[in-house]
Amino acid sequence: MIYINENYIKLPGSYLFSDVARKVEEFKAANPNAKIIKLGIGDVTKALPSAAIRAMHLAVDEMADASTFRGYGPEQGYDFLVNTIVENDYKAHGLDIAADEIFVSDGSKSDTGNIGAILGLDNVVAVTDPVYPVYVDTNAMAGRAGNLLQNGRWSKLVYVPCTIENDFVPELPKEKVDIIYLCYPNNPTGTTLTRDQLKIWVDYAIENKALILFDGAYEAFITEDDVPHSIYEIEGAKDVAIEFRSFSKTAGFTGTRCAYTVVPKTVMGYTKLGEKVALNRLWNRRHTTKFNGVPYIIQRAAEAVYSPQGKKEVKDIIDYYLDNAKIIRKGLSAQGLNVYGGINSPYIWVKTPDGMTSWGFFDYLLNDLNIVGTPGVGFGPSGEGYLRLTAFGTLENTKEAVGRFSKISIQ
Ligand code: PLP
Repeated sequence: MIYINENYIKLPGSYLFSDVARKVEEFKAANPNAKIIKLGIGDVTKALPSAAIRAMHLAVDEMADASTFRGYGPEQGYDFLVNTIVENDYKAHGLDIAADEIFVSDGSKSDTGNIGAILGLDNVVAVTDPVYPVYVDTNAMAGRAGNLLQNGRWSKLVYVPCTIENDFVPELPKEKVDIIYLCYPNNPTGTTLTRDQLKIWVDYAIENKALILFDGAYEAFITEDDVPHSIYEIEGAKDVAIEFRSFSKTAGFTGTRCAYTVVPKTVMGYTKLGEKVALNRLWNRRHTTKFNGVPYIIQRAAEAVYSPQGKKEVKDIIDYYLDNAKIIRKGLSAQGLNVYGGINSPYIWVKTPDGMTSWGFFDYLLNDLNIVGTPGVGFGPSGEGYLRLTAFGTLENTKEAVGRFSKISIQ
């Protein structure tokens, strides 16, 4: 008899983006001539930086010659990439992160999803709401989330609402929590925390022996000075925070796959008897056992992102998306819509007009303007009444979509 992990059957059957895709397909079938503009899914559209492409070509040639061929590499990443990350993302900003605190991986989705493997099932987990669904679903799979309730919440998770009412700044939970997922700049709201606002969470974690899982997948989009690029800019964070960074949105690696996770050796977890254990040791054990490294060719591409040319190209790509974000923000605001995010982020979080539901506004945009967004409620109960648009489209499509908003007939 094969017993299953019953937590999997507690998960809701259909996934947000499949529901969106199904509705779009149905609309297309009924309206074959409609020119649909997709501002929904958070995938990039611009090509990889040429510096990365060149590095990959060179690496492919190395693989063709036995004297330079590479087989299995270090699971944590090749030194050339790890040291480049340390120098550019940390030392250059005055942050003291060591090479053996960096773990190169195939993506922040995997890492934010897998990190729970080294954490006990009794931990109380807090998520901001709305939230990147991977944090919630992976905790549900592990059995840490309890049961899915009628109101869309999981019984054992602590939800920290981020809405217009609190200016999208999460307030400390009333109950004691052990693990806190923070994603800044945020997906889906596109909003950020200042250093002072993030410090409140770091102080909470220090006081409560809690762990912050800080997802910085959108770090490259930060434009404002008071928004921290790394949680380690906050005093004390090296004792309580794990940071996730990805090349996906930074440099167009969504299909190329490379990311890294920082687990400082000073971050401790505890056994039931109260003994301290370094999470770095546990993550190293997990990573080297269950993961066999990112391909050499891809790591060379990631390294090239930090070359002078790579940095310039990345900046151009990010600026392109941020210009789109600005166009969306300005255009929708001009129509009287309330919009958030989009300044340090490729995401624009739109308040639905006229008290419409997220799905109601989604349907209206699809049917009347032929624009695809993502219903905010798909990211959590506090996302109801909002819709996410992304700046990852082309400039032409973005402008055309914003032009269509001038036809909006609801307020
Ligand atoms: N974290 C957040 C908040 C994201 O929005 C995404 C992708 O959309 C990821 C992580 C996944 O990143 P990766 O492509 O590195 O797996």
